[in-house]
Amino acid sequence: MLLTMTSCNRDASADFGKLSEEFVYTTLSFSPAAATAAGLHEYNQQKLDEMLDDVSPTALNKQRTFYQEFSKRLGALKPLTLSAEDRADLGIIEDQISLALLDLDEIHSTSHNPTVYVELLGNALFSPDVLDYAPKPARMRNIIARLQQAPRFLDQASANLLSSPDIWTKVAIEENEGNIELVDKTIRADVPDDLKGDYNSAAQPALAAMNRFQDYLKNSLSKRNNWDWRLGRDLYTRKFRYTLESGMEADEVLANAEADLPRVRARMLALSLPLHRSMFPSHGDHANLSGTERENAVIGEVLNKIAEHHSTPASYMDDARKDLDEARAFVQEKHLLTLPARSNLQVIPTPEFMRGIYSVGGFSPAPPLEPQLGAFYWITPIPSDWPKERIESKLREYNFFNLKLLTIHEAMPGHYVQFEFANDVQPKARRVLRALFGNGAYVEGWAQYATQMMLDEGFLNHSPELALTLAKQELRVLANVILDVRMQTRNMSDQEALDLMEKMTFQESEEAIGKLQRAKLSSCQLPTYFVGWRGWLSVRERYRQAKGASYSLATFNDKAMEQGAVPLTTLGQLLQ
Ligand SMILES: [Zn+2]
Repeated sequence: MLLTMTSCNRDASADFGKLSEEFVYTTLSFSPAAATAAGLHEYNQQKLDEMLDDVSPTALNKQRTFYQEFSKRLGALKPLTLSAEDRADLGIIEDQISLALLDLDEIHSTSHNPTVYVELLGNALFSPDVLDYAPKPARMRNIIARLQQAPRFLDQASANLLSSPDIWTKVAIEENEGNIELVDKTIRADVPDDLKGDYNSAAQPALAAMNRFQDYLKNSLSKRNNWDWRLGRDLYTRKFRYTLESGMEADEVLANAEADLPRVRARMLALSLPLHRSMFPSHGDHANLSGTERENAVIGEVLNKIAEHHSTPASYMDDARKDLDEARAFVQEKHLLTLPARSNLQVIPTPEFMRGIYSVGGFSPAPPLEPQLGAFYWITPIPSDWPKERIESKLREYNFFNLKLLTIHEAMPGHYVQFEFANDVQPKARRVLRALFGNGAYVEGWAQYATQMMLDEGFLNHSPELALTLAKQELRVLANVILDVRMQTRNMSDQEALDLMEKMTFQESEEAIGKLQRAKLSSCQLPTYFVGWRGWLSVRERYRQAKGASYSLATFNDKAMEQGAVPLTTLGQLLQ
């Protein structure tokens, strides 16, 4: 009896494994640009690195049919015959199909969002330039092949686009400018001598097409601006379910964030008062004020004082490198988790054409199919030709304490460590599935949770300034939720958004303006930090209770990261 059951399960598992693999590699082959970034270079005898995405209506229809048919095939499975790991993957694939069909059938990004095309083209050309998957001349030939297809690709884009809100067209124009630079300057400077002729003959028509597209954006699409960047309640609610996969509805998460806001501010006041007393002994705790006004005065003055302790533009990069070493040593000393075996992390300046989006810093993981390649912690340098006040404002925001938190979040033990664990998931198809369609709340939540863990364990000797800086981050994370849900579904105005950021969550005006734009460009991404942070803490708490006396923080961290970026509700089940 037992034997039959085991063999039966094994069959179901083998069948599901094949199905999952087919899903992962087929969807990747729909986007050769994404395939290169994931480390998939060939599929069904097609050399993906030489191809550029086909975005014609025929190709998009083919994708739609694939998702519909695949959904039917999944419907025929009996989930109870699958292992817990397979069921987790099944859930990820189902949500991914729902999300893809929601976009193709109802959100229609390809008809209304020009940034989709511009970013895709930029990444298609950028990945072969920076990812060391083959000798440089071979990768340059891949870029040349893709440049030859750029005019076709941009023609398809122009034909698809029906209308676009001003903000999306404006950003597409800026990013397309960046792509022109990338082809004309950055990559051109990298071309080996014997390929210069080939590069030029491919780049010339490609650049002409990019300039034509620029003209199209500025003079044609910009006139068809009767499309709303707001998703609206119905679409947003469904996108939120498939993206966050938290088991919570958008309204519920919004209510939680709004309820937390005054609690975090009260905690910040308590943290600030002793600091405020020693920094400003003559201010009498601002006892003449009350409520929000008093909180803003006390907390605001302390945050301003803390901000004075900061790097210079010249020392900024090196300070981040030192912070990285300091954080790594602390993780080791406290045995918080197992550090990655590969030493592939590089701290580099953010690539220039990415600085519009990554204005502070970022993390770019090694490709899941080629984990030995580089992982990059990007630090965006502070240009020395900026006006003095702007330099000062940026250095104050990313001061001594906040730069440490940034490094913990992006690299150690934040994104870098988590992605290294994820790049060891077996089998490969599972690894790619959980990387490509990795749950954003898991990923951003880990980085926030890991930051809190470092402080809980006494990083920087329990510094109250560091704790206050993290609390300020927490306020920002709450504001992210409120902005996303209210702007996308409840017509929150620009002024209401700016007031929330500047008056209630201590954000600098430059930061607030940037975030306002981001909230119009993306949806269901900004809540990942809050949902994920809380999600990680509750998964850990349940795990701790289940383990009782045998609980170990390091074992929890290792085991939870070994799963890769599954939805956090699923993670809880897998750890049981
Ligand atoms: Zn992050």
